[in-house]
Amino acid sequence: MNENDSERIAGLLVEDGMVPTDSAEDADVIVLNTCCIRENADNKLYGALGNLKSLKADRPEVQILVGGCLAQKDKDLIQQRAGHVDVVMGTFNVHRTTELLAQARVEGPVMEVLEAAVLDENELFPTGLPTDRAVDYQSWVTIQVGCDNSCAFCIVPAVRGPEISKPFGDLVAEVEGLAADGVSEITLLGQNVNSYGRDLALRLRSADHHFEEREFERIAGAEWTHGDRRARPLFADLLRAVGSVEGIHRVRYTSPHPKDLRPEIIAAMAETDSVCEHLHLPLQSGSDTVLAAMHRGYTAERFLDKVRLARAAIDDLAITSDIIVGFPGETEQDFLGTLEVAAEVGFDAVYTFIYSPRPGTEAAEMVESFVDHAVAVERMERLRAVVERSSLRANQARIGRTDEVLVEGVSKRNPEMLTGRTRHNKLIHFPSSSKIRPGTYAKVEVTDASLNHMLGELIEITHPARHRTKIPVLAAGPQ
Ligand code: SF4
Repeated sequence: MNENDSERIAGLLVEDGMVPTDSAEDADVIVLNTCCIRENADNKLYGALGNLKSLKADRPEVQILVGGCLAQKDKDLIQQRAGHVDVVMGTFNVHRTTELLAQARVEGPVMEVLEAAVLDENELFPTGLPTDRAVDYQSWVTIQVGCDNSCAFCIVPAVRGPEISKPFGDLVAEVEGLAADGVSEITLLGQNVNSYGRDLALRLRSADHHFEEREFERIAGAEWTHGDRRARPLFADLLRAVGSVEGIHRVRYTSPHPKDLRPEIIAAMAETDSVCEHLHLPLQSGSDTVLAAMHRGYTAERFLDKVRLARAAIDDLAITSDIIVGFPGETEQDFLGTLEVAAEVGFDAVYTFIYSPRPGTEAAEMVESFVDHAVAVERMERLRAVVERSSLRANQARIGRTDEVLVEGVSKRNPEMLTGRTRHNKLIHFPSSSKIRPGTYAKVEVTDASLNHMLGELIEITHPARHRTKIPVLAAGPQ
């Protein structure tokens, strides 16, 4: 989500006449887009700001902007602690980036943190804003902001507000625009993507007959405007709709919540060719006691049921997850439950985290039940061993198979090799005698596999890249 916001901020600055640079020394504007989900986000921010202090002292005209969810949370505390920051803006202020910088040039330091409630849809989902996308053939698509859940460890509801879905018709139009621009892979983004549309359905149901036809179509999509006006649209409908936009070859999404993974979503994944056979399903813990303390809304058995359903419906499915070790109160027995679920699922990969408190969350208050750090580290090692075993097995199982690969470019480690990602989102390297443009789809036979990547041989190119290549513009100074 923050990367997507960063692309929008960069897009606005480029439209305002700026040119990206890799070096803080050359910059006129430095943006620190923070994420307080990360551990020690505040230490990292103030560390980075400390490093910029002398630069700002030497060149006072340089502007420093702090955005993102830490800014949303800490507001004016940031400028109290780092007086050399010119602009502090929240997660809902992205569309105001250049105005706030201009204001700070005239008036001095500015702090503006808007709440979702005061914004209209165009400001909440700044689709119309220019984007400086990192890659021309892939794009994030924010389908929802905020979260209605209250997981005890998570700060997101406090900094991103309640769930608000972007209207269905607008999303389909956005994806059509991206496809026309040459984008072939999209990743639908939200804090809890599979509850997408709940708020839209309520809106439609509560005032169905008051909507003009065109407005109904914008919110619910064309398909339901004239016929069945049931509680639509749902995430499954969105997957099918954006997945059938011409030119969109791959659809990914992140992150779903296990409790909201409905059979309709699994069916939509199975029946929509462009939706990748990859499910990222955050487990967090395999202990029912810990899951209840986290307020996750499912048990280990329910999680396993969803995995079985998905595997039965979707051929050759990769499953990845997030797991927290050492949540307050986690006993050895609880942890063994996590190991058992991880072993039973046989995840393709897992992001593993040792629990660390986020100030402002319920779990951060459970100080008396904090798990000893050394115990948590030891459990993490045991979990990693289980996960690495299944990851390696999953990668080795690809040997001899042919995978579709989206080429990302020349390998950083070996210029003789190209690098790409399979539909399972696995990294693969393969030699190629001819130049292949990033954004090209190819068939590659897997010849070897290790824990973190696979090797292969190019079989054939299936879809050439369609996007236009950006030619870097050199800044022209006086001759
Ligand atoms: S569902 Fe995800 S974003 Fe929402 S509170 Fe739980 S962990 Fe945080």
